[in-house]
Amino acid sequence: MTNNIYFVANWKMYGSISSLNSLNKLIKLIKKKKYKKAKIIYFPPFTLIHSLIIKFKKTKISIGGQNCHQIENYGSFTGSISPKMLKDLGCKYVILGHSENRDAGENDNLINNKIKIALKKKLKIIFCIGESLNQKRKKATFSILKKQINKGLNGIKNFSNIIIAYEPVWSIGTGIIPKTEELESNIKLIKKILHKKTKQKIPILYGGSVNDLNISKLKNVDGISGFLVGSASQNSKKFIDIIKKTIN
Ligand code: PEP
Repeated sequence: MTNNIYFVANWKMYGSISSLNSLNKLIKLIKKKKYKKAKIIYFPPFTLIHSLIIKFKKTKISIGGQNCHQIENYGSFTGSISPKMLKDLGCKYVILGHSENRDAGENDNLINNKIKIALKKKLKIIFCIGESLNQKRKKATFSILKKQINKGLNGIKNFSNIIIAYEPVWSIGTGIIPKTEELESNIKLIKKILHKKTKQKIPILYGGSVNDLNISKLKNVDGISGFLVGSASQNSKKFIDIIKKTIN
């Protein structure tokens, strides 16, 4: 595993003000020298961003938005949040291309526009890619990853604020993780596709049913720089265990 190990917590549409107390143990833990290389980023729902920014103020934990609009600043878009608003709150990151948003209708072009605008606003991007079960069965994984990367990152010249999260859709929320060989081979494919675009080193994370039980296996996967954790990150004890078992 690389020098910096990313532990990304995606809370999806979960969490409440009262659930934030459970983060006190994590704040204490990451003060220890041993966990210096843990790069922890929380993606709470928009409603909790401000509270978490305050809670993590004196820590090295960063915060991001789970999505943003493709319009940079302000506009008449009911229910939307712009990159400027995320920056204004103190966010450093945004997740774009998550399969749950792709399923809700976001296509590669829209995701590409969002990435460009968010980069312009100096947000770092966690760019999610991954094949569905059907695509995997049809042996289309390589072509899907290639399309998502090439279209999603079209026109981008500087990749220093891009992190890829490889999340096979069939693994998200199912409790099923890919076999090590399959995961390593797909990570190699992703690196090969990226290498044609840039010589910059782009961190690649794995996401999909990462938990405190399978982390001991996943941490040995070659070529990854950390994990995007969904449901297990909503339970602080499990998230702490994931960090502890990765850095032991
Ligand atoms: C995710 O939200 O991207 C995710 C990987 O979820 P889970 O860990 O619950 O599969």
